[in-house]
Amino acid sequence: MISEDILYDCVIVGGGPAGLTAGLYCARAKLRTILLEKGTLGGQIAITDLVENYPGFPEGISGKELTQRFKQQAEKFGLEIHRKEVIKIEKVGKEILIHLRTGELLRSKTVILAVGANPRRLGVKGEEEFLNRGVSYCATCDGALFDGVPIAVIGGGDSACQESLFLTHFGSVVYLIHRRDQLRAQKHLQERVLSHPKIKFIPNKVVEEIRGREAVESLLLRDTQTGELTTLEVEGVFIFIGLEPSTGFLKGTVEMDDKGYIITDHRMRTSLEGVFACGDCRSGATGQVAVAVGEGCIAAIEAERYIEEYF
Ligand code: NAP
Repeated sequence: MISEDILYDCVIVGGGPAGLTAGLYCARAKLRTILLEKGTLGGQIAITDLVENYPGFPEGISGKELTQRFKQQAEKFGLEIHRKEVIKIEKVGKEILIHLRTGELLRSKTVILAVGANPRRLGVKGEEEFLNRGVSYCATCDGALFDGVPIAVIGGGDSACQESLFLTHFGSVVYLIHRRDQLRAQKHLQERVLSHPKIKFIPNKVVEEIRGREAVESLLLRDTQTGELTTLEVEGVFIFIGLEPSTGFLKGTVEMDDKGYIITDHRMRTSLEGVFACGDCRSGATGQVAVAVGEGCIAAIEAERYIEEYF
């Protein structure tokens, strides 16, 4: 149970790899800690089919299972996890007040922001209209809905390539549509994608419109070199064009860069004393689970030091 009467040692906002690791370290250090997550635990890895580069799992591990293991380990040391949305934090005296969507107000000595980032939208006609009727941002969640039909993936980064490979289990063909002729993804992913018999790479094209009646039926594509418009028939469109930090509620509270990522020093300290940030919401984030985990660990150790010094 969360309580408005307790002065917590640490409130962690966000339950991805960074937040869950911070939670593990805080709980194990016997700090009175709660972790608040508004949606599903795991953040971006919860919607990643296979994590292949997290050390210790040579065969790879599913994002879902890795999340479960992080959670289990943190809870073993006493971390409390609650499904709550934070809408504002503010510092009053030495304490930090955490305002929840429910109207509850929590008090804490420190806060660790591990709010992560969300999929960026394309912003084209049909994208909102056909959400969950052909348009998706999660291959693990929705891939099976497109068994035996043509699928498009938009993007040229690690996510687009990794998830294209996963979608080959379902689609009759997977069109990988990228706005340039060079993929951005790690080389080994590029090689696997470009040599896969079911993946057809379509370079130099952007989506102008997602079209259909009840559900997605086709894409209107524009060639970035010639301007030529073409139609591609697909039933599913998976959009992986990067991430945007989920930091809107922190505007004016902590210093951020021009893209809305939280600025910290190497000790994960933000511009507001007692508030730390880690993982994909931090300026300079690499989008790697191993980095998020390391930063969560640093944030927790620094929070503990801060409490010893100031309380
Ligand atoms: P990303 O690396 O930022 O790549 C986004 C891709 O989308 C780029 O190819 C970009 O094109 C394209 N793009 C951006 N805006 C677009 C628009 N409006 N229209 C069309 N295309 C657009 O994003 P991500 O792949 O989601 O990865 C996010 C982070 O997570 C990265 O740091 C990545 O390394 C990491 N990640 C790692 C793994 C792994 O290690 N296995 C797996 C998944 C993600 P340009 O190339 O032209 O800019």
